[in-house]
Amino acid sequence: MKKIPFLRPNLVKHGTFLNYLSQIDQSRIYSNYGPLNTLFENRILNEHFGNIGDVTTVNNATTGLMLAISQCKRPNGIYALMPSFTFSATPLAAIWCGLEPYFIDIDPDDWCINEQLINEVLYKLGDKVAVVVPYATFGIHLNIDYYQRLVASGVPVVIDAASSFGNTGKSGHFGKGFLGSVVFSFHATKSFGLGEGGLIYSANKNLIASIRQAGNFGFSMKRETTVQGLNSKMSEYTAAIALSTLDAFPKKAKLRQQIRQWYVNKFNLLNLHNEGWTLQNTDDNIIYQFLPVLCPEGSRNLDYVNLLAHQQIEARTYFSPACHEQSLFQSYSHTALSVTDNIATRILSLPVWEEMDEEDVTHVLRGLIKR
Ligand SMILES: *Cc1c(COP(=O)(O)O)cnc(C)c1O
Repeated sequence: MKKIPFLRPNLVKHGTFLNYLSQIDQSRIYSNYGPLNTLFENRILNEHFGNIGDVTTVNNATTGLMLAISQCKRPNGIYALMPSFTFSATPLAAIWCGLEPYFIDIDPDDWCINEQLINEVLYKLGDKVAVVVPYATFGIHLNIDYYQRLVASGVPVVIDAASSFGNTGKSGHFGKGFLGSVVFSFHATKSFGLGEGGLIYSANKNLIASIRQAGNFGFSMKRETTVQGLNSKMSEYTAAIALSTLDAFPKKAKLRQQIRQWYVNKFNLLNLHNEGWTLQNTDDNIIYQFLPVLCPEGSRNLDYVNLLAHQQIEARTYFSPACHEQSLFQSYSHTALSVTDNIATRILSLPVWEEMDEEDVTHVLRGLIKR
């Protein structure tokens, strides 16, 4: 039987960035926002964000979330409103900033934090809310207009867009023009994978300047620590891989979009909707890291993980258990979480990797049909 692994990260081969490595040998600059890092940031800002706002690289998205939250949180705030249906890095980052996660239920349609509930909790808690941290679930285009209005009303917003880099919609790259901050991950398992790395974007240049200062030991221009900082700098070696990945990315994105399209087509052909299966409800051209589906109401994702495992197909259940079910986070406040509980029981992450072909996709989906 053919083995289908869940992910097979396929980063750019070393031959493609030898030229950049030679430049490091020449410059003898290895970190501290060196020339390759600067070139990468400038290209991202120009090629993906139309030179609106600013970006800064970080060594991973978890540090990026910590920095972004720390630099915008309201001084009297206690709570960071966020979904429970996210990766544990989101609540962890808030806790490192001295805040308490406050979990809010998600919307059954798009699996993102429920905006109506955010409004209700904001009304109830006022400026005890330090920051709102929505997650752009699996790369979906969150309703940026809603969050833009929150920022304009004085409520800071940090979007966990860990799996969103490269996703472009009608108005350009996801997050473009947003006045809060948007945090992307470049972990090897993400679609734009470098090993470890990340990026923070904001249309607010001053916000990025303060995030960058905090990420460089809180140093002022005079190398005096004036704010609580840490070290989030990306090395020039990673920047070399990043530049090479930028060149390779259009092709990688096409492969992933093709795989998603095969999943959608086969899903329809096999009538999985009629069997109670659900794809994420989105028209966005998402460059999926893996393919999220909901198994039928009343069934459990883990049963399907086992069913697939018997057929040598590897599947996962991101993000289940949801954060509020994990021991560190159990004591934090939350709204009713019935949608989160339902979706966390049913979410199934199906394999995506760039060399997958149409037959592999068919094999995976057929594997879901119990015989
Ligand atoms: C991957 C991921 C992160 C963490 O990113 P790192 O770069 O590995 O720190 C945070 N949040 C979500 C939703 C993620 O998927």
